[in-house]
Amino acid sequence: MSDAALVILTEDDCRALVGRADAFRAVEDVFAAMSRGDAYNFPVIREAIGHADALYGFKSGFDRAGMALGVKSGGYWPGNMAKGLTNHQSTVFLFDPDTGRLQALVGGNHLTALRTAAASAVSIAHLARKDAKVLGMVGAGHQAQFQLRAAVEQRAFEKVVAWNYHPDMLPKLGEVAAELGLPFEAVDRETLGAQADVIITIASANSALMMKDWVKPGVHLACMGTDTKGKQEVDPALLAAATVFTDEVAQSVTIGEAQHAVAAGLIAESAITPIGDVITGEHKGRTSEDEITLFDGTGVGLQDLAIAKAALRLAEEAGKGTRVTL
Ligand code: NAD
Repeated sequence: MSDAALVILTEDDCRALVGRADAFRAVEDVFAAMSRGDAYNFPVIREAIGHADALYGFKSGFDRAGMALGVKSGGYWPGNMAKGLTNHQSTVFLFDPDTGRLQALVGGNHLTALRTAAASAVSIAHLARKDAKVLGMVGAGHQAQFQLRAAVEQRAFEKVVAWNYHPDMLPKLGEVAAELGLPFEAVDRETLGAQADVIITIASANSALMMKDWVKPGVHLACMGTDTKGKQEVDPALLAAATVFTDEVAQSVTIGEAQHAVAAGLIAESAITPIGDVITGEHKGRTSEDEITLFDGTGVGLQDLAIAKAALRLAEEAGKGTRVTL
């Protein structure tokens, strides 16, 4: 490949090239790099553009360890579904950290789902009890099936229990569980809390869906849906009862699940631990079988850059993608 080539990876290229194990490794590595101070996110921009009801923005950063520099640009176009398109749209631009040259344009839609599922999977790998058997899913939309597939690779789960605000969406998630060879049961939220050893919340909600008194001692929660001010998935008292981890503390307290517990004075920002500290061994993670652990996965730009960089590496190894000379 010529030094001046720009690599273009379409959504189909990304689907063919990047697997869950690649996503897991990329996300785990970049969380560790953030913990060591080798990678940092730049301030996020997100604006209503006053056209097509769209929210548009960009997330960017630099990972010195993975040599990933770039930006994910895109947002949410609510009218897209009617046009046969995904409402969330994004593209990642990677730049050569040594020269600033544009290296790659990478379709970001599939990779966003993979990297989001990888984040909760990393949290399960590092924080859930080793003997976790029942996985509880709160949410059954587009992301939920990616979350389910990644989660079941982390523990020997024997059953999936699920609840969704729109019950008609649950059978599709049930099909994924069946494909994975796991019994699947649609349950109410109290039953989900009473049974689940690991709970993933991945909904679009503005009030608590899971209450503190419903969950078991020793449960691990990965709260993945709250990525904007005002959104919420769990009872703030649950964060007060848990040891709270996150991808990035600054996002956790402003746009993540912890925004509510911090605003209510139930937990201090200083009590929230970046999960990278657990990956590097700086923090010991879970310390007892009865401890409740909670991962507030807000979604950082560095995850997008890390997985796009992995896609670029895999494309170069396989000789895939389109090369354009600049
Ligand atoms: P989707 O539109 O496909 O599904 C939405 C889900 O939310 C469905 O399960 C739906 O039934 C549920 N829902 C809708 N209204 C609700 C309400 N009032 N109360 C409770 N549940 C409700 O969306 P998706 O692509 O699956 O994304 C799910 C969530 O994850 C969204 O909130 C999205 O913003 C978020 N997300 C987070 C990250 C991250 O990195 N943390 C990344 C991508 C998406």
